[in-house]
Amino acid sequence: MRDDELVEEARGAARRSYSPYSGFRVGAALVADDGRVFVGANVENAAYPVSSCAEATAVNFAVAQGVRKIETLAVACIDAATLEDAYPCGRCRQIMAEFDVERILVTTGSGEVREHTLDELLPHRFRLR
Ligand SMILES: [Zn+2]
Repeated sequence: MRDDELVEEARGAARRSYSPYSGFRVGAALVADDGRVFVGANVENAAYPVSSCAEATAVNFAVAQGVRKIETLAVACIDAATLEDAYPCGRCRQIMAEFDVERILVTTGSGEVREHTLDELLPHRFRLR
């Protein structure tokens, strides 16, 4: 899948976000090493800490389907009122580290797509040997 198609999948997932409290709709789409594509959206909860980010939703769903290695993950936020660069939070960066995400595509408020490696976003990350 091309990068622009993956970003579009992330935007589509953001449209399905459940975010009644923040109004901040985020979607993620990833390509596993076997070529399968998985999407996720943020899912909020009245008990805020129970909420789940889009990236975590996508990664956890992929892992539940047998994925153990992820090549690329795209993340997008689609709401003009809250539109910011859709950089993953620290928790999601650690979740991505567990499954060796190679490339992360981040959409910006202006619609630009920035490509990063996990080392750029989470240097010196926690690992067990
Ligand atoms: Zn997160």
